[in-house]
Amino acid sequence: MSLNVELLPADKRGVCPQELSFGNAFSDHMFTQQYDADIGWHDAAVQPFHNFTLHPAASVLHYGQEIFEGLKAYRRADGGINLFRPDQNVLRFNLSADRLVMPRVDEHLHLKAIKALVQADQTWVPDQSGASLYIRPAMFASTPKLGLGAASSYMHFIIAGPVGPYFKEGFNPVSVYVSDVCRRAVIGGIGEAKTGGNYAASLFVGEEVARKGYTQVLWLDAIEGRYVEEVGAMNICFAYKDGTIVTPALSGSILAGITRDSILRLAPTLGYPVKEERLDINTVLGEIESGEITEVFGCGTAAAISPVGRLAYKGRDYVVNDNQSGPVARRLFNELTAIQYGTAEDPFSWIQSID
Ligand SMILES: *Cc1c(COP(=O)(O)O)cnc(C)c1O
Repeated sequence: MSLNVELLPADKRGVCPQELSFGNAFSDHMFTQQYDADIGWHDAAVQPFHNFTLHPAASVLHYGQEIFEGLKAYRRADGGINLFRPDQNVLRFNLSADRLVMPRVDEHLHLKAIKALVQADQTWVPDQSGASLYIRPAMFASTPKLGLGAASSYMHFIIAGPVGPYFKEGFNPVSVYVSDVCRRAVIGGIGEAKTGGNYAASLFVGEEVARKGYTQVLWLDAIEGRYVEEVGAMNICFAYKDGTIVTPALSGSILAGITRDSILRLAPTLGYPVKEERLDINTVLGEIESGEITEVFGCGTAAAISPVGRLAYKGRDYVVNDNQSGPVARRLFNELTAIQYGTAEDPFSWIQSID
C-alpha cells in the first residue's frame, strides 16, 4: 500500500510553541485514509493539517462509532526521535476496531503513517525536559445514514501536537475519587476498547468530582461495585510494604494499557515483584489505612506514572504516604522515562527510532 506525502512549503510552516499544555497545539501535517466497503482502504496520505467536511447524518455523530489511540514521540539528547512501543498501539487499534465493527487497518501502513507524520513534523517534537509530541490516531464512521447498523465508509486519521511535561510543579500526587454510584464500563461492554463512548460515559462523574477538588475518578466494576478497575485514562497500581506491585487483572472492562504492560515487565527487573489480581476496594482502603499499601499510582501514556496521594470513598478520605510521592513510583517513572527519552538502555526493544 502506498503512502502519498504532500508537505507544506517551509515558509508556510508553524513553529512549535515554547509554552506547552496538553492537546491545544497541533503540528503542520496529518495523515488520512478513507475506507469504502466496495474498494477497501484508499488514498493514504500525509498532508497539510486540515478540517474534515462531514455529512450531518454521518453515523459517528449519532451512534458514536469511533476509536482512537494515544502515543508519544520523544526527543533524544542527540537530537533523534524515539517512539515508544508504537507497534502495540497499532495492534490495539485493530482490537478496538473489531469491537466497534470497524474495518481493520493494515498494521504496516499504520506504523509507516505514524513515522511519516513524525518525520514530516519533526520540528514539532519539543526538546524541553519532559515534553513530547503526542500522536493521536483515530477512526470514525462517515457513512451518511440514520438507520442503525455498522457504517460502510470510514475515515482513519492521525494528528499530532506538542505537549508539556505532565507534572508542571514536580512529581506531585493527584487525588482520586472512587465512584460509588456511576460505572464506566461493564463486562461484555466496550471498556476494553479505546473508544470515545467510554469517555462520554465518564464525563459526568469527572466533572462532579472536579468541583469537589479531585483530579481523577477511580472506577469500580459494574456488577458488584466492589473491585478496582482503573482511573479513566490510566491504569492503577498499588505498592505494598514488601515491595510487591499489584494491579487489577484485566477483567474485560479494563483498558489494557501499554504503560501498564511496560510496568509489569520493567518492575521485576528493578526488584519489585508484580501481581495481577482482583482487588476489593474495601480491602485496598483497609491496607492503605494499616500501612500495608505504601504507594498508589496511575500509569498511562500521558503522565507515564502519576502518584496518588488521596482517595475518597463514600464521603471519607484515605491519605496515602502522607500525600507525598513515594520511592517506587519515582523509581519506575525515572526508569521508564529514561528508556523513552533514550538516556537508558532499552533491554526490551521497546523503542523505534525515527531517522
Ligand atoms: C489509553 C487508556 C489507558 C492507558 O493506556 P496506555 O496505553 O498506557 O496509554 C488506560 N485506561 C483507559 C480507559 C485508556 O483509554
